[in-house]
Amino acid sequence: MLTKSQLADLLEEHGQPAYRATQILDWIYQKRARSWDEMSNLPTALRTALAEKYPLRPLTHTLTKGSADTTRKFLLQLPDGRYIETVLIPASPALYGEKSDRHTLCVSSQVGCAYGCKFCASGLDGFTRNLTAGEIVSQIILAEELSGEKVNNLVFMGMGEPLANFKNLCEALEIITSDWGLHIGARRITVSTSGLVPQIKKLAELPQQIRLAISLHGPDDVTREKIMPVNKKYPVAELFDALRVWNTNKNQKITLEYILIDGVNASLDHARILTKRAQSIKAKVNLIPYNTVEGLPWVRPDDAACLRFKKILTNGGVSATLRLEKGHDIDAACGQLRLKKEKGAV
Ligand code: SF4
Repeated sequence: MLTKSQLADLLEEHGQPAYRATQILDWIYQKRARSWDEMSNLPTALRTALAEKYPLRPLTHTLTKGSADTTRKFLLQLPDGRYIETVLIPASPALYGEKSDRHTLCVSSQVGCAYGCKFCASGLDGFTRNLTAGEIVSQIILAEELSGEKVNNLVFMGMGEPLANFKNLCEALEIITSDWGLHIGARRITVSTSGLVPQIKKLAELPQQIRLAISLHGPDDVTREKIMPVNKKYPVAELFDALRVWNTNKNQKITLEYILIDGVNASLDHARILTKRAQSIKAKVNLIPYNTVEGLPWVRPDDAACLRFKKILTNGGVSATLRLEKGHDIDAACGQLRLKKEKGAV
């Protein structure tokens, strides 16, 4: 899948008039054509030439796992035979107070991940490759087709570090937010990162008002390094300098994601330091009790300890949520996306 300007360049190479780009984009994103053959207002020779090089549907759906709360995890195969997962999470009355039509899709940006955050299943098998912009965007199109629902909220929290795939991420964001593309409002898109400082500053320069979430998980270097190896390269102070740049450029509150792990980062002292950090950049905090990951030793604190942690934040004037994650029963909560051998799928 190409951006509008890339498509215009390609069509020029084929000696085609500029209006063809508009026709093709309409077929792909509005009419949701599944093949070039459907594009009846294009010359046959052009359709054939483009079909050979640019598959409209680079992903093949191989399996859906649905959970009791109707979160659905789709296992998708890439053209090179590798697999990714994407997760559709409907809002629920329990979480948001009233019934909502918000359908959040959690998309993957890479096959595997090189960053090895210690709580995360996605990094356990290492990094394989970046997804193309088309493979990122196709997750949305396919999820809508499979579910019959319109995706109107997007989080880059699936497999991979999106900011390590920066160029393709930016192209995908252009396609996703443009009115000629999927036309999803930038404010409904959250990019989540382990904290890649240079890319956060570059992302802050994008025109779209996307949201930023930081996998913080430790409010100081000693704690964070136990959980996030990336902290050795980009320590907490440097990360927060980058977040101040974000705040200067964007009119969006940053979210600090914080997984509570018993005996590691969930003491009341940790809560006090986190409160100061969040206050310094006016960030919101999402507290997430640790989800058990097969093969990892950590455990979640009990509910009372989680509530005490949250109270310190709220007493300090920090907006904090204690997240009751959905999809836990199908390994689709944050940090749990990992390819497992699914019966009949791999
Ligand atoms: S949390 Fe994100 S950056 Fe860290 S290992 Fe998992 S996928 Fe990679």
